[in-house]
Amino acid sequence: MPYYYLSVALNGPFYHHFDYLPPQEGAECQPGCRVLVPFARTRKIGVVVAHVARTTVTAAKLRRVLQCLDEKPLLNTADLVYLDWVARYYQHPPGEVILAALPVRLRKRRKALAPAQSAAPACRTADYPLNAEQQAAIQAVQARLGQFAVFLLEGVTGSGKTEVYLQLAQQVLARQQSVLLLVPEIALTPQLQQRFTERFTTGVSVLHSGLNETERERAWHQVRLGLTPFVVGTRSSVLNPVPHLGIVIVDEEHEPAYKQQDGLRYSARDMAVARAQRAACPVVLGSATPSLESIHNVTCRGYQRLRLQHRAGIALPPELQLLDIRDQPLSAGLSAPLLTALQATLAAGEQAMIFINRRGYAPVLTCYSCDWISECAQCDAYQTMHRSQGVLRCHHCGAQQTIPRQCPACAAYDLHPLGQGTEKVGDFLRDRFPDTPLLRIDRDATSRKGSLQALLDQVHAAAAAVLVGTQMLAKGHHFPRVTLVGILNADGGLYSADFRGSERMAQLLMQVAGRAGRGDRPGRVLIQTRHPEHPVWQTLLREGYPAFAQVALAERQAAGYPPYTHQVLIRAEAKKPELPEQFLQQIAAWVQQQATEVTCWGPVPAPMARRVGRYRIHLLLQSARRRCVQDLARALRHYVQTQPIPNGVSWSLDIDPV
Ligand code: ADP
Ligand code: ZN
Ligand code: ZN
Repeated sequence: MPYYYLSVALNGPFYHHFDYLPPQEGAECQPGCRVLVPFARTRKIGVVVAHVARTTVTAAKLRRVLQCLDEKPLLNTADLVYLDWVARYYQHPPGEVILAALPVRLRKRRKALAPAQSAAPACRTADYPLNAEQQAAIQAVQARLGQFAVFLLEGVTGSGKTEVYLQLAQQVLARQQSVLLLVPEIALTPQLQQRFTERFTTGVSVLHSGLNETERERAWHQVRLGLTPFVVGTRSSVLNPVPHLGIVIVDEEHEPAYKQQDGLRYSARDMAVARAQRAACPVVLGSATPSLESIHNVTCRGYQRLRLQHRAGIALPPELQLLDIRDQPLSAGLSAPLLTALQATLAAGEQAMIFINRRGYAPVLTCYSCDWISECAQCDAYQTMHRSQGVLRCHHCGAQQTIPRQCPACAAYDLHPLGQGTEKVGDFLRDRFPDTPLLRIDRDATSRKGSLQALLDQVHAAAAAVLVGTQMLAKGHHFPRVTLVGILNADGGLYSADFRGSERMAQLLMQVAGRAGRGDRPGRVLIQTRHPEHPVWQTLLREGYPAFAQVALAERQAAGYPPYTHQVLIRAEAKKPELPEQFLQQIAAWVQQQATEVTCWGPVPAPMARRVGRYRIHLLLQSARRRCVQDLARALRHYVQTQPIPNGVSWSLDIDPV
């Protein structure tokens, strides 16, 4: 008999670990090492989570680990404990969570690479003194280094939040501890990345999507071994092993990109807080437009709010103004007053930005003779017209076809695009201002590697210029010559079916507006609306985002929505709607039998019921007490595991859905 068994987390839909005998060769196989094990008739990769003295597996069934794939553990005990907690919080198979924390190469049977060596951190200082607000923020966080504390750094766009992060990072590094800085999307903000690597000439690992698998793994080892103690990364970096963590910073904490929407549906922001708690270090959540959750947590969970209310340096806050377009003729979606302002801006040698939250040429193509409309065959959605590429394309499933010249239904030559996207606005403005460079910034225009950087370089090199783009324009870019921002279809969030609609709209609007007047000339933001009297606009424009947030929170409380309640969403989908519907009805009936303080809504069709040919049904659980929904979700998962799942139905649990 061996002295111990190996408890192994296997990659797969398993909610418990599996016990194995140590490998034959007698090599020590420590917790945190990957192993190859026999499993039914196949082999699987797993990670040893513990050595245990006893097993419930009978001697006849007990099998031996085939091979230990690592000489030294890739994850330490603290990492394993944290990942196990993540798995339990999200009701997700622990093996999948642990494997998700490894670089892709190591999830396969590959030998771990050796990291490249790295020099000690070298760092330059800023060439300007910090202002009083920045200093106060830094001092507040500094006072809590070495212990857990959550800070909400609410600083208007351009107030110097990034500078605060950099100086805090410097102090943490000086204590021989590491820094984990999460950003929503690195690829969109090459400037930000440049600022970090300029300041910290060595010792920084930027984990971005441009790295290939090998580069990524090398960076991962460097981080894990503490060779690069300053880690900048997107969502998944919050699962990375980072030793001696001294601070966690979440930039643009309100960004939906922090929530993973498939597989392990985690919120990197929430996990950052949990992580800091375990590491006993402060966490800074920074944003110009904090999420209502985080603002709420200032009152009820002791988050400390730090404010930067003024723009750093000489830049002034932009002036926001509504343009009532109810009786206005529009050209490609632009009103006459906006065009006049644009003309004046360009004439003054300044830059303007036109924001429209829709890419492509037009959101639909229709036939005036028979009312045919470009619907997607697989989704409850229209196919967008992309004129420059000559295709109609569904943005949900990617299905596309050449733009027809004749109506597919009645053969009339009477097809017309309805509405507009970035492409149409761009074409129109190029005609209107033929001598001014026009740059379109959206996912289509920046899909090739390096193309975004090329566009950004052009903007920085140009004098007068027009930028037309989607929310990509809003992401932290610093364009000092932009003095005018025009927002075309701003009303979307006002009457949205999603209770987070107005929050999202307000955040996006303030972020876009934040691109105006970041240099030495003041900025102006013109917002086209058909609902100028709407209270959301009035609060936002007269009193600003914090006031909007207070009103919105009061509404959430009255309606019993998060953050005042906690939700779990159960999704089910299949090729036909009946099966997932029945499956969720059965779950709903089971929920009703459980005497809990949880309300159950549904099953109802998802907001876009059919997507990529599959029908999607939702069941929502909600309670004022987190514990109640959490416990129920766990019991529910156990219950479902004992039930046959109808053929072709896939289902998932989403804790704290967004
Ligand atoms: P935020 O992250 O809040 O949008 P940034 O940190 O990007 O703001 O700062 C906006 C601009 O102001 C940057 O160009 C930055 O270099 C500059 N800046 C930051 N702090 C100061 C300061 N104390 N004095 C002068 N300029 C500053
Ligand atoms: Zn027709
Ligand atoms: Zn589609």
